[in-house]
Amino acid sequence: MTFKALIVDKDEDGKTHASIENIDVSRLPEADVTVAVEYSTLNYKDGLCLGPGGGLVRNYPHVPGIDFAGTVEESSDDWYKPGDKVVLTGWRVGEAWWGGYAQKARVKGEWLVPLPEGLTTRNAMAIGTAGFTAMLAVMALEEHGLKPENGPVLVTGAAGGVGSVATAILANLGYEVAAVTGRESTWDYLKSLGAARVVPRDDVAETVKRPLESETWAGCIDAVGGPMLARVLGQMKYGASVAAVGLAGGANLPATVIPFLLRGVNLLGIDSVMKPYDGRLKAWERLAKDLPMDKLEAMIHPATLEDLPALGADILKGQVKGRVVVDVN
Ligand code: NDP
Repeated sequence: MTFKALIVDKDEDGKTHASIENIDVSRLPEADVTVAVEYSTLNYKDGLCLGPGGGLVRNYPHVPGIDFAGTVEESSDDWYKPGDKVVLTGWRVGEAWWGGYAQKARVKGEWLVPLPEGLTTRNAMAIGTAGFTAMLAVMALEEHGLKPENGPVLVTGAAGGVGSVATAILANLGYEVAAVTGRESTWDYLKSLGAARVVPRDDVAETVKRPLESETWAGCIDAVGGPMLARVLGQMKYGASVAAVGLAGGANLPATVIPFLLRGVNLLGIDSVMKPYDGRLKAWERLAKDLPMDKLEAMIHPATLEDLPALGADILKGQVKGRVVVDVN
């Protein structure tokens, strides 16, 4: 039996290339649950794995796709039976393990979560790793005392995947969202997701000049890192927290410790990949409840496996808006 998959292979000269192939089921990795994949999506990491690999891909030929949703086809895991709808994010699937850019995937049952009530496989992938991570960031800020009455919350990289979902969730929960974007063409989109105002990227892009600026933000979800995160730390209100999610603008943090020492600012690390099961379930339940589905629909850019190599290059250049949903069939 064969199925369609997007395969990335590496030439002898080290160059990667992607192609759509029909491959035999016997080539799937050994594990206890086989899933008929319905939808996958595109995240920043997928852009890396579709192209040069970014040090994430262990072996070639490789099937990328760090997340997927579908129906269990075969299972020797007691928790899952054929016909169950499931979602996978993280666990280095699509990097060190064959992923979701195929009609079938085989993974460990412990990596899956049941499709949350109220979600379809399509909107679970509209959320995907990016949206799941945005929810983890919102929950971390709440656990550290964030409330709507505390003041405005900054979202950086706002028109990207993490930023779009973070903006929609926070606005729906009653927060005043200030959305940082480098793309003027996305201002109306961000306002339609619920952003109260847009902050042009250049306003926060410059590196730290003064360790403390005026106390402006009650919280921040940061998908950008680098000089922007460093700058924002000095703009946080007393005792406020920043959830550090991404590095779209760089992995360095050219900051001073002054905001931590004089303003009690917290820098909260957010990891979606190895998040333990109970925390995953909580985040998915919150997404089904707190993310308005009409806002999610407005973020969707539909795509097929054939579209992915070009979209992968786009996301690495920061040119993808919202969430790409890949129908793999
Ligand atoms: P996207 O590419 O969809 O979004 C990133 C956004 O950041 C872009 O759309 C752009 O937004 C902004 N941006 C891009 N380049 C720059 C730059 N040089 N300087 C400032 N802003 C920039 O990616 P995702 O939303 O999928 O992921 C965002 C980040 O979060 C990535 O670094 C990703 O690896 C990370 N991530 C981390 C996870 C975790 O578990 N911690 C899980 C998922 C993602 P705009 O045009 O609006 O300015």
